[in-house]
Amino acid sequence: MHSACPHCKQSFEPEPGFYFGAMFISYAINTALFIGSWVGLLLIYPDYTLSMLLGILTAVVILSLPLSFRLSRSIWLALFVRFDPEAGNTPHS
Ligand SMILES: [Zn+2]
Repeated sequence: MHSACPHCKQSFEPEPGFYFGAMFISYAINTALFIGSWVGLLLIYPDYTLSMLLGILTAVVILSLPLSFRLSRSIWLALFVRFDPEAGNTPHS
């Protein structure tokens, strides 16, 4: 991850431990993925076993980790930093 945006120089690490709260966003994303996977399995194969469910959930978490990690950090940062369409358009940057 860059330490600052290469376009507008917005710091991606505003303070130490800033992304601690992104865990709660990640938790919500993973809960949605779990429920979606479980409902999908229930519809496709209603006679599933617990080990099938755990295997699918493990695969879903591992495969979605690069996306959910970055997405939760992006959402967390967007909660605190307002989008500025003019940032990065000034001649000095
Ligand atoms: Zn930027």
